[in-house]
Amino acid sequence: MVGVMKATFTISLDCEGKWGVADNLTGNNRKITDSKLREAYGYIFDVLSQNEIKASFAFTSMFSVDERVINEYLEKFHVLSERGFAWYEPICKMISNNDFDGWIGLDFFERARKEGHEISWHGFSHHPLGKNISRDVVEFEVVAGLAVAEMKKLNLRSIVFPRNAVGHLDLMSRNGFVCYRDSAERRLGFMGNKYLRVINEFNLFSKSERGGVIVAKNDISGLPAGDFLNWPSGPRSIVPDSLTIKRWKNMIEDAVRYGGHVHLWFHPHNLITAPRMKFTFSAIIQYVGKLAAMGDLSTCTIRELHENFSEKK
Ligand SMILES: [Zn+2]
Repeated sequence: MVGVMKATFTISLDCEGKWGVADNLTGNNRKITDSKLREAYGYIFDVLSQNEIKASFAFTSMFSVDERVINEYLEKFHVLSERGFAWYEPICKMISNNDFDGWIGLDFFERARKEGHEISWHGFSHHPLGKNISRDVVEFEVVAGLAVAEMKKLNLRSIVFPRNAVGHLDLMSRNGFVCYRDSAERRLGFMGNKYLRVINEFNLFSKSERGGVIVAKNDISGLPAGDFLNWPSGPRSIVPDSLTIKRWKNMIEDAVRYGGHVHLWFHPHNLITAPRMKFTFSAIIQYVGKLAAMGDLSTCTIRELHENFSEKK
């Protein structure tokens, strides 16, 4: 290796509204409404543009369209639901009841596109696409997702798997996807334990990724899984904001020193149930923006990260 590579920073956002929680529409998830989504997304867009940072907005296809398009799929959702794929049941109910509050993110999709962010794919209806999921369902999700993309003249190249359940990579690659955000659970077995993940939020010695991309089979690259920006709700609310900010600054400093990579992700709707995240998010993004302006760090989308690594191979 020649010298130290320049540090890179990526931010990806899982954009899904209520599609992401179709199997649990109770409790806190009821707070995901159109007006609250508008506030959360608006905040994120403003912070990113003030700091001149482009992110990867991973949209669930159905969250990127209007009611009319959602209605067109009702029949297909019905058939799948009747075949026993329970994910589609509450979706059919929502469409039949004409109850779209929290399910439509068309305006956010359009703003993301207009402001030059990458649009990445986060499933069609957010049905998990992991290796244990029936091929039939995965094929339906991919074909329908690409149909929506075509309608929008969108060239989808990267995937953030719903629930981070990675699978069916051959099918994804055959359909034009070149990279995906890997799952931390897959990489680090112990991190699958949610209590250990909370404890890890107190770890100020987390390092940046220094390993580069994992080139998987089927010509599709698994990119570093990144870290979830702490969502201070439930047990996670005990983590002080100052500590979260310090932890991220340390990881970013490590990246600058060693030419590493840092990837931050969360769901924009997390800001609804944990408004404190606005503060940690803007502090981290301001810090990244400052380093990027000084030339110490490059910010890149998932797709650009893949392209940068491919060039160096
Ligand atoms: Zn999701």
